[in-house]
Amino acid sequence: MTKLIYKLFLIPFLAIFVGLKPFNMLSYMQEKDVVLVIGSSGQIGTELVVRLREIYGDSNVVASDIKDAAPEVMESGPFEILDIMDRSKLNELVAKYKVTQIYLLAALLSATAEQHIELGWNLNMRSLSHVLDLARHGHIKKIYWPSSIAVFGPTTPSLNTPQYTVMEPNTVYGISKQAGERWCEYYHNRFNVDVRSIRYPGLIGWKAAPGGGTTDYAVHIFHEAIKNNAYESFLDKGTTLPMMYMPDAIDATVSLMEAPAENVKIRSSYNVAGISFDPEELAAEIRKHMPNFELTYKPDYRQAIANSWPASIDDSHARKDWGWQHKYDLAAFTEDMFVNLKKKYNQ
Ligand code: NAD
Repeated sequence: MTKLIYKLFLIPFLAIFVGLKPFNMLSYMQEKDVVLVIGSSGQIGTELVVRLREIYGDSNVVASDIKDAAPEVMESGPFEILDIMDRSKLNELVAKYKVTQIYLLAALLSATAEQHIELGWNLNMRSLSHVLDLARHGHIKKIYWPSSIAVFGPTTPSLNTPQYTVMEPNTVYGISKQAGERWCEYYHNRFNVDVRSIRYPGLIGWKAAPGGGTTDYAVHIFHEAIKNNAYESFLDKGTTLPMMYMPDAIDATVSLMEAPAENVKIRSSYNVAGISFDPEELAAEIRKHMPNFELTYKPDYRQAIANSWPASIDDSHARKDWGWQHKYDLAAFTEDMFVNLKKKYNQ
């Protein structure tokens, strides 16, 4: 009791007295937040967990997945095997660690979901409803759930796609993300759930392998360039898509989650943009590092998915509401990919 009085009254009072900004007081009050990351062994989770542990402390970020994670995740803090379809195990972990925030990353991605329609729909929808329900009943203070540019479809304006526009997705992944956005907004409006979301474009990183998305070529191309000086692209010439380098995606995620609630005006999901390019433009940039690099094309079923997505994104709402800014352009991320991947392969 004495501790509580001390925390609630004395510390804030002293903070004001010594002239600390309200932001610092907030950090103090939030320092006991415990974060659960679900789907932490994937492309985003591998990097996000490390960043969240820097912010909240290693032991306050619980990583979880149906499979083991990379050593940097397994060895730097708690890790639990969790199948998000198992609601009682989820509840058990939330109680065990006194979790206050959930980052829900588990999903079937665009290309894989087209091959496993029912699993894609079930996993992408039920995982979200399990987590939203926990927050609705007061167990969780804040949720992060990523959406995707896959919410747009062939009837959406493709250039500089606005935040609010026609959305008729024609993939199971896009349909699940669009339905998810509607549920997030509904739970916020109806039950005051603090859920936040970003429509990620295609993400490119060197730390973890991509998990079966339509934009994965933009990661594979670097590995094949280093190994074989050549790549056969499953997306065709001229397929321009919105993309983002992973450090920017992690920054966007953390900035949105740390923004004051009143700044988060969109509770479906925010458009965010980095760069847009097609395979040939990426190859031209790669040739600045490897002049003899060869790119050939063999489009497959993923071409139809890519054709239904925008070429570029208008993210002015994210920039205005919570100060989003990307750092990496095509040249900067290509350089960084080569530096890090070459180191990785040399090890
Ligand atoms: P990923 O496929 O690399 O990782 C997903 C993780 O979820 C995997 O480690 C997988 O083992 C785990 N998982 C699968 N089924 C599970 C279950 N039943 N219970 C618990 N975990 C389970 O995906 P990612 O690229 O890290 O994407 C994370 C989120 O971001 C997804 O919601 C995805 O739709 C979204 N997103 C990603 C991209 C991208 O380019 N990577 C773009 C747009 C949106």
